Amino acid sequence: MSITAPKGTKDILPEEIFRWHKAQQTFADVCHMFGYEEIRIPTFEDTNLFQRGVGDTTDVVQKEMYTFEDKGGRSITLRPEGTAGVVRSYIEHGMGNLSGPVRLFYDITAFRYEKQQKGRYREFHQLGLEAFGATGPEIDAEIISVLDVFFKKMGLKSIKLCINSIGCPTCRKAYNEMLKDYFRPHVDTMCEDCRNRFEKNPLRMIDCKIDGEKDVVKNAPRLIDHLCDDCKDHFEALKSRLDNLGIAYSIDPNIVRGLDYYTRTVFEFVSENVGTQGTICGGGRYDGLVESVGGPSTPGIGFAMGVERFLLEAEAQGIPFEKPDYTKIYLAGMSDNAKDVVAKLCYDLRLNGVGCEQDLMGRAFRAQMKYAGKKNVPYLVVIGDDEIASGVVNVKKMEDGSQTEVKISELVEYCKTNL
Ligand code: ATP
Ligand code: MG
Repeated sequence: MSITAPKGTKDILPEEIFRWHKAQQTFADVCHMFGYEEIRIPTFEDTNLFQRGVGDTTDVVQKEMYTFEDKGGRSITLRPEGTAGVVRSYIEHGMGNLSGPVRLFYDITAFRYEKQQKGRYREFHQLGLEAFGATGPEIDAEIISVLDVFFKKMGLKSIKLCINSIGCPTCRKAYNEMLKDYFRPHVDTMCEDCRNRFEKNPLRMIDCKIDGEKDVVKNAPRLIDHLCDDCKDHFEALKSRLDNLGIAYSIDPNIVRGLDYYTRTVFEFVSENVGTQGTICGGGRYDGLVESVGGPSTPGIGFAMGVERFLLEAEAQGIPFEKPDYTKIYLAGMSDNAKDVVAKLCYDLRLNGVGCEQDLMGRAFRAQMKYAGKKNVPYLVVIGDDEIASGVVNVKKMEDGSQTEVKISELVEYCKTNL
């Protein structure tokens, strides 16, 4: 029996990897422009970190984690997301002593035991960032504008930004009581998740994937209408900052985010084309998280974007991705002697940053030409004994067949400046 990739995982093959490079590089460039620096965190962490940092009542912790005991008897979990690990690192390295805001971005794989669907995998990729230390709405607007600039630089034509506020522990406590009173007469008719959430985290009943479409959920009181004055001011200030930047948004009172540690601002970028897997990116403020993971009380905010979902959306919108031509020139050697010259020229070209190829399969001349053609190599040089004797070769541009005479001794320099 042949072995295939595990369910929920995917190979990213050379014919698509350049799309990934483009998204990852553009994201890194945009983050750098905003003053964010990259952090790399471990693929696995102590299971306790996610229990505390993601939250015991979330689907991620309750149903989706890859948890195992290692040979030393430790409970280890493959990271289901990046925020908890970044927060752990922030605390462990005393980054609270740096002058704020401490701005970090990441490019990671994440693991969740989920039912595989289009845009939903068990191993997937996230591009995300976290900013620590700033309480004001300016940073909320800043991280949203990082995404806005990223999407524009990638050439996305449309994507919908939805924002909401889920308040602070004070306003949420009063609201949760109100929600419980509202749901109490209905809770028996609701799904098992909702019945559990009714006790532990009634706010999450609002985004239930099973009961969410029922009128009883749709008509529930909305937290956005019951914010305390400080939270209301924060939300209003965020809206006016987005208006000032010209970033369009709509308010979606149903975004509560699956994760417990969020406070105040929550947001999603949603595809206007795709259905249930249409959330490309989610984020928000988590002023309680650093403390709940054992650090000093520190405000924070961040987001994570699913790279698979972003690329699906980019494809749906017909965004062109150009495959870079790393190989600029093919050098064909016509004799054993010429092949040695070709091998040395290729070595020198590569040392000088020019991508090139030579025959490694013992192919005859015609077969070498066919190979170079199939690979779409834009320039070609043929070197035989005559060329070695005269010290001159023809550099042929495949696009129009034009040829330029170049001395072999000057070929590297010529390619460096002209190809
Ligand atoms: P969903 O409601 O779609 O399950 P989520 O709320 O669990 O999303 P987050 O934890 O906010 O997602 O993760 C941020 C982003 O990571 C999502 O918006 C999505 O683009 C991506 N993502 C999450 N889970 C998966 C997965 N299993 N496969 C691929 N991408 C994912
Ligand atoms: Mg999920």
